Amino acid sequence: MVSLTFYGGVNEIGGNKILLEDKDARIFLDFGQSFDFGEDYFYEYLSPRTANGLEVYFEFGLVPRVPKLYSRKMLQFTDLKYEKPDIDAIFISHSHSDHINHLQFVDEGIPVYMGHGTHHLYEAYHKMYASFYDIGEHSDIRLFKSGDSIKVKHLLIEPVHVEHSVPGAYGFIIHTSSGAIVYTGDFRLHGPQSWMTQEFIKKAAATSPRALICEGTRIGSEVEHNYTEQEVQDKASQLIKGAGGLVFADFSMSNVDRFLSFYNATVAAGRKLVIDTRFAYILRCLREKVPALPDVLSDKNLLVYFRICKSCTFSEKDYYPWERDFLPKMVTYRELSKSGSKYVMHMGFNRLMELVYLQPKGADFIWSMSEHFLEGEDNEDTKRVLENWLRHFGINLHRVHSSGHASPADIAGAIKAINPELLLPIHTNSPSAFKELHGKVVLPEKEKTIGI
Ligand SMILES: [Zn+2]
Ligand SMILES: [Zn+2]
Repeated sequence: MVSLTFYGGVNEIGGNKILLEDKDARIFLDFGQSFDFGEDYFYEYLSPRTANGLEVYFEFGLVPRVPKLYSRKMLQFTDLKYEKPDIDAIFISHSHSDHINHLQFVDEGIPVYMGHGTHHLYEAYHKMYASFYDIGEHSDIRLFKSGDSIKVKHLLIEPVHVEHSVPGAYGFIIHTSSGAIVYTGDFRLHGPQSWMTQEFIKKAAATSPRALICEGTRIGSEVEHNYTEQEVQDKASQLIKGAGGLVFADFSMSNVDRFLSFYNATVAAGRKLVIDTRFAYILRCLREKVPALPDVLSDKNLLVYFRICKSCTFSEKDYYPWERDFLPKMVTYRELSKSGSKYVMHMGFNRLMELVYLQPKGADFIWSMSEHFLEGEDNEDTKRVLENWLRHFGINLHRVHSSGHASPADIAGAIKAINPELLLPIHTNSPSAFKELHGKVVLPEKEKTIGI
């Protein structure tokens, strides 16, 4: 019999950690960090130090006490004895922190499987933001691509690409002694790469699976209209064409589809897209895996923003070596301030300080990130500060977004097509709502084992 234990992702969006055991094989599907991780106990400077290991997290039950999993270093001040790991592998679905981040606690010898794209993206982000993106030391990272078949003892695991808000996202079909168990990871069906998710659904359905572990980020939420990526591009295009001054756009740097939507909308409006040096670095890394992306150095529609630094003369020595590659594409606040209507500039919340130099007149700001970053109690401060900045500079705020997650209707369609015997909801605040989508729903409980 196969057993599944859900150590995260239960009654919450993200933080997936699923242990699958079958005979003597033990694998984890994802090993992520919850979005609200530590919020109840840590606050600003009251947070774990780099010298701290798992003792702090065990104290508050924030990380599960699973034996034979964590590294010796992480366990040294805990009462959980270090023992040689008995987990055969950890399979990572994609690079988002809620699926990968707690790898930092795991013993370095346990094989970690991830897609080529996930590894590539992780390395780029780790170089840029080492303290935020850190999965720790791992001596046995094994890379896969869609269509591979990976053997772990008697288990056979097939990673199949899905469309999500980051490239290199996968679902898994795990062939066990109880039949196939399908895990969706995070997915959507309304973007330009939805054919990938369709392929996953088709392959999953062909196995007549015993169980489907399905994400449900948007289950239980009202959807007035399921915005597609094309609609994002059309609306952005309309806004940019109608704008009189500089247009700022805030969207995730790793969301390739969103980048292309804004790139296309910018070019269609006869403007140039300005990205900062970090974005330029990430874009160049992504392009190695996604050739449809433009080349920062040769594309005439792209410019790279250099912030004012040290000598205040924009000279080469002011910037890190990895930034200097982009010097030929330099644009500074002077040009953007003078000729704002020729440009669309990518602008993150943490970069708002640039507005002091840019002094935009009649500018627009297009917010194209997940809505929940601007809503809910947790984000009140962020929202207040952003609104204050925009009001101060007389900038109009617009929202244009297409979710990285499938709509409730698309999830219902995927479940129907895959047609599993059992359905296990994960990565959702509304697991019970899945009961309307399938006759045999098993609701996972945190750290409880379910026999399949
Ligand atoms: Zn997720
Ligand atoms: Zn995700």
